[in-house]
This record gives sequence, structure tokens and C-alpha cells, in this order.
Amino acid sequence: MFQDIRIVLINTSHSGNIGSAARAMKTMGFTDLVLVDPVDFDPKHPSEVSVAMATGAADILCGARVVATLAEAVEDVAIVMGASARNRHIPWPLMHPRQAAGKAITVLKNEQKVALVFGRERTGLTNEELSMCQVHVHIPTNEEFSSLNVASAVQVLSYEIRMAILDSQDKLDAHYSGDWGVSWDNDLANQKEINGFIEHLERTLVDIEFLDPTNPRQLMPRLRRLFQRAVPDKIEINILRGILNMVKRNHDK
Ligand code: SAH
Repeated sequence: MFQDIRIVLINTSHSGNIGSAARAMKTMGFTDLVLVDPVDFDPKHPSEVSVAMATGAADILCGARVVATLAEAVEDVAIVMGASARNRHIPWPLMHPRQAAGKAITVLKNEQKVALVFGRERTGLTNEELSMCQVHVHIPTNEEFSSLNVASAVQVLSYEIRMAILDSQDKLDAHYSGDWGVSWDNDLANQKEINGFIEHLERTLVDIEFLDPTNPRQLMPRLRRLFQRAVPDKIEINILRGILNMVKRNHDK
């Protein structure tokens, strides 16, 4: 999927931005960079500042293809998405980057290409260029200061597409667990162990007169919710029960 994403930069005037865009792409796993009529830039002889900004992504920078028109840049592409900070007079199908990434996945799954098109630093994309895109992607920025640096915009969109690709390949959850219980170093406590601990806690709280059994209120349900939310493992439950044993021993002295 990664090889089917193309980043297209139109008429970029600062070669440092081209280098930064190459770096943004490479960090996200994308390699296909096309430059439409760049101002004073030749990938075969890249400027010093562009190489400096690309750092380890000089291969992407030097491997960029230069074409004269947007039409040429996207002739073999199925879906063209134009990134723009401005609203247009004729509204175009508008998506935020996450929606656009979802749309891109449906195309990538068919092994077809998706292009993300970025405009000039000063004036962005022309209406004509945007009309050649099926989707207008807008990064929901601060309304009073909405325009990102072009390479930053490349980074944001590339990141969202990378996330969507990894998610579609089930590679996200395998590495980043939102649930502490996965790949934990100890087995999770089972329900019997948790209930044993909660009962032990309740007995201790009665013993030390924190909990009045004739007027328990919501104390135990609230404590149970706290411990359920933590999803404790077996060793954690043992530690907690050890603490309760010690509380009792000292209280009974
Ligand atoms: N003044 C120009 C800003 C150009 S910024 C304008 O009004 O369009 C250079 C490029 O970065 C833009 O053409 C666009 O491709 C991208 N970009 C910057 N901010 C963006 C945003 N909020 N949403 C989507 N793309 C953005």
C-alpha cells in the first residue's frame, strides 16, 4: 500500500520545503515524490538547503520526478486529493485528513494509486488545480491562523494515511495496546482473585471502622469500580492482599 501513495508538490519555491517534505514522507514510509514545475530546483543537483532539510531522506529528494503539469503528475492515479487551507466559492467534497485516509484505503486495497497534492507556499492551489482533485482535504486548523507550512501539511496527511494503513493491516493494536492487559509481564488476575481481594478489602475496612456495615453507602461499589478499571494482574492483587494482612495484624495488636 505504501508504494501506491504519491506526494505531489506544485510549484514549490523554497527548496528547503521540498527537503522537509521528503523527510516527512520517508518517516511515514512513502517514497513516491513528484514535483510539478518546482521553482529553481533540480533533484539531480539538489540545493544544499534541501539536502540539509531532508537529512536522511536525500534518496527520496534526489529520486523525485519532475513534471510540467499536475495532469502529468497524476495521469496513472485513481484518486487525487488536494490539500488546501482555504474555502472555495464552489464547494468541493471536503474531508478532514482522517476521512481522506479512510477513503484512500479503499483505493489502496484495489492496488490503485492515491495522490496527495500540495500547493505553493504563498498562494496554495489554484481553483483549476483543485478542480482536478476528487477530494478537497482540509486540516482543521485554528480559523484565525489556518495555513501550515507545506512540509508540515505533508507530514499531517502522511501520518493519517500511515495510521489508516497500519490499522487496515491490523498492525496498530499488535504494537500499541490501549488495554494494559495485552502483552503484560504478568498474567491478569481472574475474577475469583479480584472478588477475593474485594471481600478481603471490605472485611478490613469494617475492622478498621472505615466502613460501617449498617450504613455502607456506595463505598464498596465505588472501590470495586476503581479496581476493575485498573485491570490488576495476579502479582498486584497479591501485593494488595499482603498490605491488608499487615493492616489487620497491626490493628489487632
Ligand atoms: N496561502 C496559501 C497557503 C499555502 S500553504 C493558501 O491560502 O492556500 C502551502 C500548502 O500547504 C497549501 O497549498 C496546502 O496544500 C497545504 N496546507 C497548508 N495548510 C493547510 C490546511 N490547513 N489544510 C490543508 N492543507 C494545508
